Amino acid sequence: MNLTALPAFTDNYIWMLDDGHKALVVDPGDSAPVLAALAARQLTLAAILVTHHHDDHVGGIEALRTHLQGPVYGPQRERIPQPFVPLAHGDHVDALGLSFEVIDVPGHTSGHIAYFTAPAGAAPVLFCGDTLFSGGCGRLFEGTPAQMHHSLSQLAELPADTRVCCAHEYTLSNLKFARAVEPANADLMEYTAWCESRRADGAPTLPSSIERERRVNPFLRCDEPVVARSARAHGAATDEPVAVLATLRQWKNDFR
Ligand SMILES: [Zn+2]
Ligand SMILES: [Zn+2]
Repeated sequence: MNLTALPAFTDNYIWMLDDGHKALVVDPGDSAPVLAALAARQLTLAAILVTHHHDDHVGGIEALRTHLQGPVYGPQRERIPQPFVPLAHGDHVDALGLSFEVIDVPGHTSGHIAYFTAPAGAAPVLFCGDTLFSGGCGRLFEGTPAQMHHSLSQLAELPADTRVCCAHEYTLSNLKFARAVEPANADLMEYTAWCESRRADGAPTLPSSIERERRVNPFLRCDEPVVARSARAHGAATDEPVAVLATLRQWKNDFR
């Protein structure tokens, strides 16, 4: 299985998984990069997986339908271009000989879902849309801090070597904020240097891993005393992880 990040717009990635013959894509906000990749590698498009309803994740679906030899899958609680197969927590999607588990991860949007698969002989793969980013998390457009905390906690419990496929290249700006939260986190310093060199080469910082995110992502570290202390200094009323996450999210919204 080949896993590829197709850049789209200014900072989106459309993730493509292929077996050399068939491919699936996740959140095709634009059809052009997908069609170019399919043609270059002579792949047929077997499925489209959608995590949530935002235009930069669904805008390319209509133009891809004539090339699509399988279903569009998406969250049952959101408005995705019809027709699509509606999915809820615990459902499974079979594509490319793999079984993808559907995980409800509300917060960024109210019906956001993620897809997880564990291919034989390879590290697991998570497509998490705009819920978990490397070093950060999505903005709370439709959900609450409690929902986002629960969603991120579920993802943090996935296997450590899971490849985390986020839908945006936000890593460096997230890490700048993470350093403000945890100025003494050595893993964070080391990871920042690696990401800076990747971006200088024009390469993606993704996929990340669950293990790395547990070490560097403040939104997965709300129960760490040092993160809670930083949040308290920025207005959190208690050390409760949900209160810490709510404060971090608000602080990040205003952070430059
Ligand atoms: Zn979004
Ligand atoms: Zn997005």
